[in-house]
Amino acid sequence: MLLRGYAQRHSARRAVVLGGGVLGLEAADAVRRLGLETTIVELSDRLSPVQLDAGAARLLQREVTSRGIEVMLGRSVSSVTGEAGRVAGVTLDDGTRRDADIVIVCTGIVPNLELARDAGLAVRRGVTVDDTMRTSDESIFAAGDVAEHAGRVYGHWPAAVEQAEVAAINCIGGRRLYTGSLIATHLKVTNVDLTSIGRPHSEPEDVEIALADESGGRYRKLVLRDGRIVGAILLGHASDAGGVFAAARERRDLSGHLESLSQGDWGVLVDPSFEPAPSAAAGSGERAVGAASSNGGARMNGAARTSETASPVSPAG
Ligand SMILES: Cc1cc2nc3c(=O)[nH]c(=O)nc-3n(C[C@H](O)[C@H](O)[C@H](O)COP(=O)(O)OP(=O)(O)OC[C@H]3O[C@@H](n4cnc5c(N)ncnc54)[C@H](O)[C@@H]3O)c2cc1C
Repeated sequence: MLLRGYAQRHSARRAVVLGGGVLGLEAADAVRRLGLETTIVELSDRLSPVQLDAGAARLLQREVTSRGIEVMLGRSVSSVTGEAGRVAGVTLDDGTRRDADIVIVCTGIVPNLELARDAGLAVRRGVTVDDTMRTSDESIFAAGDVAEHAGRVYGHWPAAVEQAEVAAINCIGGRRLYTGSLIATHLKVTNVDLTSIGRPHSEPEDVEIALADESGGRYRKLVLRDGRIVGAILLGHASDAGGVFAAARERRDLSGHLESLSQGDWGVLVDPSFEPAPSAAAGSGERAVGAASSNGGARMNGAARTSETASPVSPAG
C-alpha cells in the first residue's frame, strides 16, 4: 500500500528491483501490475538461485520477461542516484544505467545481532543455537529469523514456529530437540505455479529425476537420497506439490518407484494406499541411473534425467 501510494503521488514510471529471489520476483510482479516499467537486477547467473536449478530458472525467466519485466543477470548495483531528495536511477557494476523512480531491495535478510553480541552471546550469521535452541548462554534461547541452527538461518515462517515450539518446551524444563525444518517455498506471482522444496540442488550421491515440458513452460524435478526425497522443484505442477511435500516430510522410501517416477508417473506420491517399497529393492544412485537411462535419459554426474517431451533438459547449475 505504501509503494502504491508513493508510485501514485510521484507519478512513478520505472522501478528497479535488486535481487531476483522469491521476494524480488513477487515485488517486481506487483510493481509491474501497478503499471511501472520494471527491471530485476540479480547477482547470480539465474533467477532465484537458491530455489531453482538452471532449467527451471530459464523457464521462469521466459515467463517473467514475457510479462515485460526486464531481467539483468550476473550484475549488481554500484550506486543509486537521486534528484530533489528522491531516487532517480541506479548504476550497475558494468556501468549500465537504469532510470528508476522506485528502487526495491530484496537481497535477503541479515539478522540484527547487536543486542546478542553486546550481551556476549556467540554469533555468526545469526545467534548460534544448539538443538535445544539454546544460545551460548544456557538461560537464553533464540528462535526464528535471528537464530542460526547448524549453520543455517532459515528466514521462513514455518521454521520460526517449529524453532519457537522447541525453545518454549526446553525453556520450561521439557526436552525437545530441533533437527531442522523442511521448507517449501511457493512463489506468489499471478498465474505462476512454482514450488521449491528442501534442497533442490543435487549432490554427487543423489538421484535426480527431472522432467521438462519446454513448450508448455512446465518443469518438475525430484532430488532423492537413499530413495527419499530431499528436494524438489515444481513449475506448473501445482497438483503435485502436496504429495511431494508429504513424501519428503514423511521420508517415504521411493526406491522401488524410481522407474515410474522417471517416466513421469508420479501417482505413487498421491496414492493414499502407498506402501513403502521394501528397502531390499532399494536402488543406489547407480541403479536409478540405469532405470532412467533405459528411458532415454542422459547420464549426468550420477543423476538420472529424462524429458517429458523431445526437448532435452539442460544441465542443472
Ligand atoms: C516481504 C516478506 C515476505 C515473506 N513471505 C514469507 C512467506 O510467504 N512464507 C514464509 O514462510 N515466510 C515469509 N517471510 C519470512 C517470515 O516473515 C519470517 O521468517 C518470520 O516473520 C520470522 O519470524 P520472527 O518472529 O523470527 O521474526 P519477525 O517476524 O521479524 O519478528 C521479530 C520481531 O521482533 C521485534 N524486535 C526486533 N528487535 C527487538 C528488540 N531488541 N526488542 C524487542 N523486539 C524486537 C521486531 O520489531 C519484530 O516485530 C517473508 C518475509 C518478508 C520480509
